[in-house]
Amino acid sequence: MVCIIGGGVIGLTSAYALVRAGHEVTVIDARDSLGSETSFANGGQLSYRYVAPLADAGVPLQAIGWLLRGESPLKLRPRLDPRQWRWMAAFVGACRGSVNQRNAAHLLRLAALSQHTLQQWREDDHLDGFDWRRNGKLVTFRSAGTFARARSKVTDFVQQQVLTAADCAGLEPALAQDGFVGGIYTPNEEVADCHAFCQRLAARLASSGRCTFLLGRQVTGIHHLDGAVRAIALGDDVMPVEQLVLAAGYRSAELGVSLPLYPLKGYSLSVPVSTPHQAPNVSITDYDRKIVYARIGEQLRVAAMVDIVGYDASLDPKRLALMKRQALETFPAAGDYAQAVEWAGMRPATPTGVPLIGASVYRNLWLNLGHGALGFTLACGSGQLLAELIGQRAPSIDMQGLSPRAA
Ligand SMILES: Cc1cc2nc3c(=O)[nH]c(=O)nc-3n(C[C@H](O)[C@H](O)[C@H](O)COP(=O)(O)OP(=O)(O)OC[C@H]3O[C@@H](n4cnc5c(N)ncnc54)[C@H](O)[C@@H]3O)c2cc1C
Repeated sequence: MVCIIGGGVIGLTSAYALVRAGHEVTVIDARDSLGSETSFANGGQLSYRYVAPLADAGVPLQAIGWLLRGESPLKLRPRLDPRQWRWMAAFVGACRGSVNQRNAAHLLRLAALSQHTLQQWREDDHLDGFDWRRNGKLVTFRSAGTFARARSKVTDFVQQQVLTAADCAGLEPALAQDGFVGGIYTPNEEVADCHAFCQRLAARLASSGRCTFLLGRQVTGIHHLDGAVRAIALGDDVMPVEQLVLAAGYRSAELGVSLPLYPLKGYSLSVPVSTPHQAPNVSITDYDRKIVYARIGEQLRVAAMVDIVGYDASLDPKRLALMKRQALETFPAAGDYAQAVEWAGMRPATPTGVPLIGASVYRNLWLNLGHGALGFTLACGSGQLLAELIGQRAPSIDMQGLSPRAA
């Protein structure tokens, strides 16, 4: 029996892969419904080829520039919290070109496995009902400098096409005509509704007869002895465990295991689409404004912002107003912005941007966490790897850089 703490997209894909491999699973979540925290209203982009970590050469200097700017995609509120300072120091330490390239390679391997795994689950198990589409992604550039740099990094001209501003307008007519100098289009990228995906996985798990859900139950402690976890505490109750998976998103570090995690807060708007041809069909990343757009069913999902402000998950009206204004400039007629549903979520981020997947300091405690800005994209591959490791099978990809023991 495998017990999983966390019923977000990572805990649920772990459960799904484990059940497919023949395991019995219990998923525990503090909330009353699954996929309701960071996996609820994220950007919806399955961005398999844009996985480079945030930490890169020049980013600390660029971040200072952003922080001095009025309309910055980054906000920092320094706190008297050693966790924030430790995380930021480690982040700055990872801001080197060589480290970025190495970590991007690990993430690309995991992303390719994720795309393959999702395709397999969709085909083999007829998993559907979450607005999945292979709609392609267009990264647009407002500055000639950033466009030139991005163009120079394109090496695979089959997977990625360099477009002029006119080509971008032709590809995505809903895009406002001015403001862009060009773009890079990747036809194989996908989009889906992460919360609906969680719900579909949960329904399949429930009907498998191999998965039990304990909802509205917060795990408050992990009891270990002689290098192994023996039980977990659920308030006053103690539950014995054989194998335990920690997939509790940004709150994974609250259970006494030392983890390099910090929440990076972001926001989304879900705008009801009124005139379908005036809302984008292709997913868009506005590179210079760091804002992403995805058409999910009958809504336009707009997501943005990295706020390093502690553990407060409340909405910030100023940040949301800025996003709404920028979205209106980019897709003026996409939908009814007055009816947009606002949301804030906490990305469970490691300083390097690489998640931790695999065995931990205790021999039967497995980690699947720290997926930051890419949790939906990387979820199926991460779940698949975890199931292989717990089942003592050879992992589908080289685990170099992904294994917590080597981190
Ligand atoms: C604005 C924004 C936009 C994003 N856009 C994208 C995107 O376009 N593409 C992409 O791939 N990713 C995106 N992400 C990232 C993605 O949403 C996250 O990486 C992903 O949802 C993390 O999933 P998770 O399962 O680790 O965490 P969560 O979804 O937060 O799940 C963790 C679960 O653990 C439970 N839990 C926590 N502590 C306990 C406890 N002690 N006991 C019991 N239960 C507990 C919580 O209730 C929660 O349900 C975005 C994130 C944000 C904020």
